[in-house]
Amino acid sequence: MDAVVKLFKAQAENEERERKRKADARATKAAPRPDGAPAAPKAHPPLPDGTPRPSRHEAEAAVRTLLAYIGEDPAREGLLDTPKRVVKAYDELFSGYGEDGDELLERTFGEIGTFDDFVLVRDIPFHSHCEHHMVPFVGKAHIAYFPVERVVGLSKIARVVDIFAHRLQTQEHLTSQITTALDEGLRPRGVAVMIEAEHMCMSMRGITKQGVSTLTTQFTGVFRDDPAEQVRFITLVRSKA
Ligand SMILES: [Zn+2]
Repeated sequence: MDAVVKLFKAQAENEERERKRKADARATKAAPRPDGAPAAPKAHPPLPDGTPRPSRHEAEAAVRTLLAYIGEDPAREGLLDTPKRVVKAYDELFSGYGEDGDELLERTFGEIGTFDDFVLVRDIPFHSHCEHHMVPFVGKAHIAYFPVERVVGLSKIARVVDIFAHRLQTQEHLTSQITTALDEGLRPRGVAVMIEAEHMCMSMRGITKQGVSTLTTQFTGVFRDDPAEQVRFITLVRSKA
């Protein structure tokens, strides 16, 4: 009973703080800029169905609800700034929604001499979050593409992985999104993507099996049609020379 009362009290206090913060935010927003133009609120792109995105404060309030749900006191000192930190961390962990793979792959280089083989970037570390539990899955991506006359900066390949990994994902979808982005962005003779990852929703909860590795692959073009190229890709990924 005491805990419940305490919880309600904490909630009331938080709401009061929230009201003050909102009032402050309104006051700041209403203040005219030095050049006289009205201050524009930070753009929040709407959701796919057109509904506006929740505000930062609404997101922080949701974190406070979850803290109370697990039996914590959101008003205790150590947790006071946690909602703010969690939302800030989310901005970073899920930054992939605001980014576009096409734009990234636009810039290619034509000076490749007589190079006529695939380019393999292997052991690209990544972390993502499973869309079923919003729990991390971490692993490595191995990516090859067979260029036609032009190549792309190697770091761009790793960036493409990050764009899609920084969204809620399934490993299967992540694999296919990376493959499609490279296939459409570079128009190569083929793309090969292999992802191996450990899913925390399997190691920390549920059946709690640690060290299980999930492997997914996707091939297009020569990698799909020519078994020899596929074998060469897998052999190079696996050779730890
Ligand atoms: Zn999961």
